[in-house]
Amino acid sequence: MRVHHLDCGSLRTIAAVGEALPPARAVCHCLLIETDADGLVLVDSGFGGGDVARPGESLGEEFLAFAAPVLDAEQTAARQVARLGLDPADVRHIVLTHLHRDHTGGLPDFPHAEIHVHEEEYRAVTDPAAEHHTESVSRFMAAHRAHGPHLVPARTERGDTWFGIENVSRPDGLTADILLIPLPGHTPGHSGVAVRTGDRWLLHAGDAYFYHGEVEAEPPVSHSELDLIQASVQVDPELRLSSRDRLRALHHEHGDEVEIFCAHDPWEFRRSAG
Ligand SMILES: [Zn+2]
Repeated sequence: MRVHHLDCGSLRTIAAVGEALPPARAVCHCLLIETDADGLVLVDSGFGGGDVARPGESLGEEFLAFAAPVLDAEQTAARQVARLGLDPADVRHIVLTHLHRDHTGGLPDFPHAEIHVHEEEYRAVTDPAAEHHTESVSRFMAAHRAHGPHLVPARTERGDTWFGIENVSRPDGLTADILLIPLPGHTPGHSGVAVRTGDRWLLHAGDAYFYHGEVEAEPPVSHSELDLIQASVQVDPELRLSSRDRLRALHHEHGDEVEIFCAHDPWEFRRSAG
């Protein structure tokens, strides 16, 4: 098994807080996993070809003004897979942290892949009776689902734990060690995606936090600009903070076994991608 860290979408430039790190464009941190038995697996999908070709229609003018994405076709996951000498048609599974537009843009570029999400995230967009249904559907852009993606809810097996975290779920039909770790609050079924690499794990924490100081620093360092964005999109602030604190505990207790990173922190991306 081989893991590649891909930035599938540069966003607005952000500054670090309390550290001598150069300002950098926020990233859309995705993983491409070459598995032994399941073909290629993507974790999150960033922006795709349709977003680059028709940004206003695909992503919405409000998002474009606020997130300022660069939208370069060469950054799409499909192009990056091809540049690695691999076939985008071999991407059979995409595991998503959640169904927001900066994570789902690549879906139409892989129309035959199965799309795995936490069962609560699945329910939020498919069941009109689910809490937060309307906003969940409005943030999963029509352009990203017009092709009829095959969404598969990952079922939680009672008693499945990972480093003491309960109710983890396993994407259906995947044999590789890839797990969905519940980190709700940003969205109803927001999850991290844990990937075993030998005797260690990677944990893609999606948008459970936006700035590494929130998880690594003692006490947590928050980022006022990014905090405002989190506050404007999260569905449950208390749940979101308890998910973040779960990650802080994991980092402090098992940091030597688990490398945690989120979707948009450019400094974490540089550290992970090397
Ligand atoms: Zn995001």
